Amino acid sequence: MARHSVQQSRVGGLLLPALVAALFFAGPVLGAEELAFNHTLGGVDWPYIPGLNASLCGTGTMQSPLNIIPGNTTTASTLTALNLSYATNVSLLNVTNEGDVVELVISSGNNSVKLPPSIYSTTNGSGLVLQQFHFHTPSEHMFDGIFYAAEMHFVHKDSVTGQQAVVAVLLKLDPTDTRNPDLDKFLPFTPNNYTGVQQAPANSTLNLTNLFPSNSSYWYYNGSLTTPPCTQNVLWLIFQNPLTFSVSQLLTLEVANAGGDGARADNRLVQLLNSRTVSVFRG
Ligand SMILES: [Zn+2]
Repeated sequence: MARHSVQQSRVGGLLLPALVAALFFAGPVLGAEELAFNHTLGGVDWPYIPGLNASLCGTGTMQSPLNIIPGNTTTASTLTALNLSYATNVSLLNVTNEGDVVELVISSGNNSVKLPPSIYSTTNGSGLVLQQFHFHTPSEHMFDGIFYAAEMHFVHKDSVTGQQAVVAVLLKLDPTDTRNPDLDKFLPFTPNNYTGVQQAPANSTLNLTNLFPSNSSYWYYNGSLTTPPCTQNVLWLIFQNPLTFSVSQLLTLEVANAGGDGARADNRLVQLLNSRTVSVFRG
């Protein structure tokens, strides 16, 4: 997952002009943290960037993403289908280019997920609340060593304890290059550069439930944020069945990614599994 903004230019000499330009054009003010890292090295440099406070990215033993080997996953009888409670007409507030991640800001509402009790239960029985969702190109998780074209991260949080859970949905190119009509509700409004925070058209709504596969099978493991500070104990639920989209839609995301640091990829490299297991629920 990612929750960050503007990335430092790969070419150091371009940083100052970019800052000046951003300020001159009265774009969003760039914070120091937001300029601190990018994905051009896949994240291997993050622990060594002065002042970034990303040592856990290098020393943590429960990091994300992973290369998931489906043949090595464990079927867990305690797992049940995720209980997704999402609105069918969510108001879109902003489509933001967070440097190299396209992020959707939605109206606050009761969009939430209840996890199987064997994984996590909130104290009052309600779900973990959706905060935002965003895209990575290519996918952050690999499967038998293979990337998908993109990965969506729906970031949820327990409003009492702060426990985070990310529900991930994979995207692959449609064999007939058919556009995904639900992604088209917001992709056309994606800013191409990192000064971009674009307001979605008034009255634009999205059926969030359409952004999840109909098959409920998923993988589960305990991991981390995939951007600094790489905080651990983030619960990962990854739907097995991908959605499809078109080449043009993929390009929109890649161009937006490149607006931040010049690299079209914004995936952290896969991390060691260590002593963890990946469980599977088959719906
Ligand atoms: Zn992410």
